[in-house]
Amino acid sequence: MFGHAGRVLRVDLGSSDITVERLNGALARKYVGGSGLGTYYLNKETNPLSRPLGPENALILLTGPFAGTRLPTSARLAVVTKSPLTGMYAESDVGGTFGLKLKRSGFDGIIITGRARKPCYLYVSEQGARILDASDLAGKDTYEVDDALKNVHGQQVTVASIGPAGENMVSYASIMTDGCHARAAGRCGVGAVMGSKNLKAIVAAQGTQSPRIADPDAVSESIRRWSRVLAEQGQGMRAYGTAGGLESNEFIGDMPIKNWALGAWGKSESVNGEAMAATVLTGRYHCANCPIGCGREISISAGPFAGISGSGPEYETISMLGANCLVDDLEAICAANDLCNRYGLDTISTGSVIAFAMEAYERGLLSKADCSGLEVKWGDADAVLTLIRMIAFRQGIGDLLGEGVRRCAEELGGVAEEFAIHTKGLEFPAHDPRAHNSVALSYATSNRGGCHLAGFTHMFEKGGVMPEIGLHESQDRFGTDKKGWMTSKLQDAMGMYDSLKLCKFTLGCGLPISQVVEWMNAVMDWDVDVDEFMLTGERIYNLKRMYNVRHGASRKDDDLPLRITTSRRNTGGAALNLPHLGEMLNQYYQVRAWDEFGIPTSAKLAELGLGEFMMTGEPTK
Ligand code: SF4
Repeated sequence: MFGHAGRVLRVDLGSSDITVERLNGALARKYVGGSGLGTYYLNKETNPLSRPLGPENALILLTGPFAGTRLPTSARLAVVTKSPLTGMYAESDVGGTFGLKLKRSGFDGIIITGRARKPCYLYVSEQGARILDASDLAGKDTYEVDDALKNVHGQQVTVASIGPAGENMVSYASIMTDGCHARAAGRCGVGAVMGSKNLKAIVAAQGTQSPRIADPDAVSESIRRWSRVLAEQGQGMRAYGTAGGLESNEFIGDMPIKNWALGAWGKSESVNGEAMAATVLTGRYHCANCPIGCGREISISAGPFAGISGSGPEYETISMLGANCLVDDLEAICAANDLCNRYGLDTISTGSVIAFAMEAYERGLLSKADCSGLEVKWGDADAVLTLIRMIAFRQGIGDLLGEGVRRCAEELGGVAEEFAIHTKGLEFPAHDPRAHNSVALSYATSNRGGCHLAGFTHMFEKGGVMPEIGLHESQDRFGTDKKGWMTSKLQDAMGMYDSLKLCKFTLGCGLPISQVVEWMNAVMDWDVDVDEFMLTGERIYNLKRMYNVRHGASRKDDDLPLRITTSRRNTGGAALNLPHLGEMLNQYYQVRAWDEFGIPTSAKLAELGLGEFMMTGEPTK
């Protein structure tokens, strides 16, 4: 096989059975790798009765076919499972070096089922895999686990681990890789699933294997060319990270402020990428084979947070733990980020949950007594840090907050549901759907719940174009025209990035889809064109949708919180806009050839080669 290693590890932690199964070429061509192939396996491994935190759930880690080729940004990893937060399809994407090491150890991925009787970790190398005792790692944070396992297995390994939040099965616990560089498979609670299996860590050895490449000269030439282009075009990202655009995002009304209630804050300049570069920044982090290097390395040498060093916060984290909670102290945000990374908590969901708690406290739905004597007030950085600890260890109110905003709102009742900001149970990332109508549609229809990366559509309402798929001009962010078409096309395209495991930041640095298609052919010896690229993306998107449909999802779940659809913010760059979701959903279902309930029709599934995933008694016309 070209590109793929052709081998997938299968580990049953209940029986300790470890086997290697072949990945056949037809399956690889149909679902590519990463989250596409992961979705195929998840459909086979689990069913609607599988409990997200039960041993029957599968935790699936998959690289893409380019991993190990040195193509720019090609070594990312997909984690696919059933989410404890949503009860539906989950995928989480992580950069760093774990995907590269796994591939160099000779595997495309790992499928983990069962539950170990006592804490364990998995060691993966070219010789196969071993399940080892992790009793002495229990309770350690992710940086400590990284240190401990590197002391055992050598500094060249990469460790993916969970912290206390994962062990305590917090519903939005993350899996962290690369020690204090803190790369996160953050979303959907994949760390809780790992914790439910009593699996503290996975160690990938350095490895020596390289994938076979069909046309090595063409690939080498392309690596040289595109590494240079991406390094040049990515200078801004390298200089200031993703938070370099913070105040412009606030300016257009894109950034969440005070639990999504306000349209302007006026504090962005004190916490943005430029402020970080002028104060605590010590270096940049590059994921494997990435010439862009948007990652931040920070160190704080004085004041209440002195001693904190390692990974710095990016745009989403600063917005969710900063602006959304009205915290404008950059060093405090760095400290909150550091705690989340160490405990293994998704910074997006954590920021959202804490902002929700602050609003509930302000409205009297939570009292000081409910919060163990803590005053949960807007802008109080100490309260944010205390709540992060309480959530990770499920102490006091942290036990409820650890379940995510949807379940918190159900528990608190009253108007809480109106300011619990999520779709399908997944808290929104830091892009307000009232600033971009396509983001509203994308959040509503994303298979993992509120997610901007599934469509990445906001980029194409602020200058971005993709002529190869017919998107010749940037779209009006407040219009509804063509949003169904645009969103579905971009979701299909982004699904391919998630399956090839390429970083989507390359899109903003000039890498066109046609070049990615050339890479597919040069590496894998395929004869794909842009049409097949898009058709494969559509197949993968529909397969994810069918997983959710089997779990009862339909139009009723393609929804947005009341605050987003009914509450104008009256200030900022998107002061008056409200997205017309119903109209856009109708367009979207029509373009996708789904029925009016949002169910893919039998004809569409057959056209995409997904006949085996049709439901018996499928409620279509
Ligand atoms: S652009 Fe940033 S997130 Fe993407 S691969 Fe490079 S360092 Fe990682």
